Amino acid sequence: MLMSVVQIHLSPPNLKPTVSQLWAFWFLCCPLADVYVEQRVCMKQMLNACSLIASLCAALGIGVSVPVAAQDYPSPNKNITFVLPYAAGGPTDKAARDLAQAMSRAMGGHSIVVENVPGASGSIGVNKVAKAANDGYTLLFMHIAQATLPTFIRNLPYNVEKDFEYLGLVSENPMNLIARPTMPANSMEELIAWIQANKGKISIYNAGPGTASHLCGMLLQTTLKVDMISVPYKGTAPAMTDLIGGQIDLMCDQTTTTIPQIEGKRVKSFAVTTPKRLASASLKDTPTMQEVGFKDFAVTIWQGLYAPKGTSAQVLVKLNEALKTATKDPDFIKKQELGGATVITDTRTDPVGHKAFVMSEMAKWAPVIKAGGVYAD
Ligand code: ASP
Repeated sequence: MLMSVVQIHLSPPNLKPTVSQLWAFWFLCCPLADVYVEQRVCMKQMLNACSLIASLCAALGIGVSVPVAAQDYPSPNKNITFVLPYAAGGPTDKAARDLAQAMSRAMGGHSIVVENVPGASGSIGVNKVAKAANDGYTLLFMHIAQATLPTFIRNLPYNVEKDFEYLGLVSENPMNLIARPTMPANSMEELIAWIQANKGKISIYNAGPGTASHLCGMLLQTTLKVDMISVPYKGTAPAMTDLIGGQIDLMCDQTTTTIPQIEGKRVKSFAVTTPKRLASASLKDTPTMQEVGFKDFAVTIWQGLYAPKGTSAQVLVKLNEALKTATKDPDFIKKQELGGATVITDTRTDPVGHKAFVMSEMAKWAPVIKAGGVYAD
């Protein structure tokens, strides 16, 4: 019996067994497989056998691939999708992809893919998940805009409080004010003078009203009492290309994507939005907004994972366990820290703590947004 398995897996290198081969093997191994529980046990044994054979082959230098070992997730061989409401290549996208890798490891290799669904400040992607099947295969990875969009967009097609299951918060990210490489200013003081001298002509990136970049840019403008031309993009990645090319002047965005550009000397860094300076080698000489005199200027954004409302408790528990394991994964932690982000390990990684935090952020930002009197609906 084992020989037939070996033949399946030792055929051409890197050949993935087809689903019908796996089923054939399962039923060859399980003549009494008419009892569901026994079938599940046997499937686990088969997967273990495949892993063992793969290990032996790896030791012999023979390449093989085995089916993902997501024995326990509702069903194997179906990808989990993280819907990411911004363009690929930006900081939220990067965090989602890092989390997908770490959660996949935590789930025994279950495949998790990221689907970028940008547009309308991210609300198109969020709405897609609100309306998706609640089977645990379509999840939302979203930043602070989960809490701010309901105030900015008064006719949102979903309800943040009622349409989602909260799976846990993942990380917090400081923001960084950067400028095109040709910006004449070389310090925050010089930048403020340049802004005052160029009123009406200054352009600044945003990913749509309510997004991280928009909140930071909005605070900058109200603090300086200067109106800038706020240019909307589908996310940081396309805007960064334009900033580097000099098509826009300023960007205030997560350090995750500003750090590599600062290191490559493709942009100039002026201030960070945290109360204390950041430890990162490329940002330790960048002052905080508070150091340059803006006492109330503080923005730290956060990112979390959500499922559509009504997802089963069994699935939610498994996803939350995987998320918590991911937040302790050294590779995941290292990647976030290199980007200036902090992995969250407190009660906000629990569904109740996550939801309570998002509701408190909604309450915190609503008056700030309403005071601006600008809505996106
Ligand atoms: N950082 C972006 C924002 O401005 C979105 C993105 O991650 O692309 O909210």
